[in-house]
Amino acid sequence: MSPDKNKRELDLSAFPPGNVTGYSTLVCLACTFDIFTVQLGLAPRTAYSEIRKYSPTIAELTAPKATPPFFDSEEQNPHCPYCNAAKRWHARVDTYRIEGSKTTDAARRKLIKSLPQKDNQFQVIEAKTDKRATFFDWLDTLGHNLDIDDDSWLIETTRAYLGRAEPKNDWSEIFKDVRTVRPSRPLEQGWEKAGARLFLSPLVYSEVLIVQYLVSRSHVHGGRTFEGRLTLQDLVHRLRYRGYLDAKEISRGDQFEVLDQLIETVAGGSGNVKVYYIVDRRGFLEKVKSVYARYAA
Ligand SMILES: [Zn+2]
Repeated sequence: MSPDKNKRELDLSAFPPGNVTGYSTLVCLACTFDIFTVQLGLAPRTAYSEIRKYSPTIAELTAPKATPPFFDSEEQNPHCPYCNAAKRWHARVDTYRIEGSKTTDAARRKLIKSLPQKDNQFQVIEAKTDKRATFFDWLDTLGHNLDIDDDSWLIETTRAYLGRAEPKNDWSEIFKDVRTVRPSRPLEQGWEKAGARLFLSPLVYSEVLIVQYLVSRSHVHGGRTFEGRLTLQDLVHRLRYRGYLDAKEISRGDQFEVLDQLIETVAGGSGNVKVYYIVDRRGFLEKVKSVYARYAA
């Protein structure tokens, strides 16, 4: 679920879109108050102050599938799947993950400094994560935002990938009038724009094919790319032909070993990357207060 659009959203416009991932989850305060008052036997007032201090883990806040007392729902008026409580008992928690890098460090410090400190309305958590995991999260978000039945998704994927690989450029401006994307052999690296056409060096073009394959692949049908529907074998064959495997020193092996190395390359190598989670607890704190008022009454 994407963060609530009509609430005071954080201004994240200073960050390249490929470096920020948003998560949103609901927590049932009826369930939570029950745990504290019934199971732990606390008085409502004590339960209230304990719940205000409660900080969910990053795993709870960002899990693809929520675990109790959290739940996900796309419905306008959801009910808690555990106790059936109505919407007025639910609090939403939005979490933003910013990938650390030279491009984002200054903007991140500025953003964090600007957040109100009172009552832990925001919580900032630093963590390290595997580059590959970060890449798959990005790919997941990209997949959710694409309409694969509309052919423009191929160009959209190109823009998203370049945005991730070269975050300093203003890709939405560059892509504004791009109608076609083509590989260009004379281009040794990067890209070049000529009117409505965008030319990519063979290596960049290859990486775009890999991302298109990964974002659209299914077990039965392979993946869809600028070069049509490709099985993994077709993809590997084309990348070899374009010189990508040699350039990236990807050793020969079976196609799944090759795929594994391709993923590592487009993910930006092996190893860890620093990430910063910003947890927006404002809605949670307000809701805990109003639920407590109802609870204590
Ligand atoms: Zn509940």
